[in-house]
Amino acid sequence: MSTTKVNNRIFLSSPHMSEQGYEEQYVKEAFETNWVAPVGENINGFERELANMIDSKAAVALSSGTAAIHLALKAAGVKEGDVVFCPTLTFSATANPIIYQNATPVFIDSNYETWNMSPEALEEAFVKYPEVQAVIVVHLYGLSAEMDKIMEICNKHNVAVIEDAAESLGSYYKGQQTGTIGDYGIFSFNGNKIITTSGGGMLVSNKEERIEKARFWATQSRDQAQHYQHSELGFNYRMSNIVAGVGRGQLKVLEKRVEKKKYIFEYYKRELEGLEGVEFMPINDWDEPNYWLSALILNGQIRPIDVIQALEKENIESRPIWKPMHLQPFFEKYDFLGVGLSEKLFDNGMCLPSDTKMTDEDLEKVVGIIKRLWFK
Ligand SMILES: *Cc1c(COP(=O)(O)O)cnc(C)c1O
Repeated sequence: MSTTKVNNRIFLSSPHMSEQGYEEQYVKEAFETNWVAPVGENINGFERELANMIDSKAAVALSSGTAAIHLALKAAGVKEGDVVFCPTLTFSATANPIIYQNATPVFIDSNYETWNMSPEALEEAFVKYPEVQAVIVVHLYGLSAEMDKIMEICNKHNVAVIEDAAESLGSYYKGQQTGTIGDYGIFSFNGNKIITTSGGGMLVSNKEERIEKARFWATQSRDQAQHYQHSELGFNYRMSNIVAGVGRGQLKVLEKRVEKKKYIFEYYKRELEGLEGVEFMPINDWDEPNYWLSALILNGQIRPIDVIQALEKENIESRPIWKPMHLQPFFEKYDFLGVGLSEKLFDNGMCLPSDTKMTDEDLEKVVGIIKRLWFK
């Protein structure tokens, strides 16, 4: 089952269930006890097992990573009119929940060393918006942001840090799991992430009482009473017990998935690094990434679109780097601080197929198609 390909297509990153069938076993147990809903043993197990694995005190399983960011913002006290700093180079799901809270995003540029939030641009933002309520940091493509500098700046201003670790489960910054360094961390189990539950998310924190509060909001904010009573706005954001079963099984193979992602990255790097204008994503000394996607920039004559089209012709999926939020029609009215490095990364960057089901033959094929563009 696990090696079957849909239409022989090579994907960027697609679901990969365990060879051992762990996920099915957990889901089967839920079926056999009719415990498909409401909350049940798989949810409790998934929360406990993930929290243990990453060394966090508390976790709440939710319907998506986006929901987790939303509740993290609420837990950090973000409300109408507040300013939230957010990296510009990210997926829109990082920024959308700021708008759900009727708050105002201010977008922060990337730096060249990490591709993630620039500490220099962040300092500038604190000068311009000293009233900021929270900072969201993203660990893009599994590369960790420069957390020591970012935490130092945020601690100096006593502002909550939310780590969007949707793409970086299994990535370590100086030995610490990304998502556990700031006040709150979020993970996503969407279909293309390093492990998936088909869809889902997790909010983690060492502030146990804040996680309990998030659990309460996520379950429609039901007060403790015989009747249905609500003194706060509620959300239907909890994960189902079936979905959590898939997650428990996937956690068992996370390490193997990281190993394969690293193998893929190193294969590409070995084969393509010498090509004119090719520069791979930065792996810093402090960083032990999960290599979720192998990304690179092309500074020469061959453009990302040339590579993407050549691969697509052979039924192989690849894509450009995230388009910065401050260039998005929906978000362009918000402020942006930086020198425009994120725009350069967007103009020149792309992600190669990084699916953990790829064989050496597949990798050879991708590399062959790319090299032909340089040597024709
Ligand atoms: C996938 C992703 C999310 C959103 O997660 P969902 O589970 O799809 O809601 C948020 N931020 C980043 C950076 C992501 O890549």
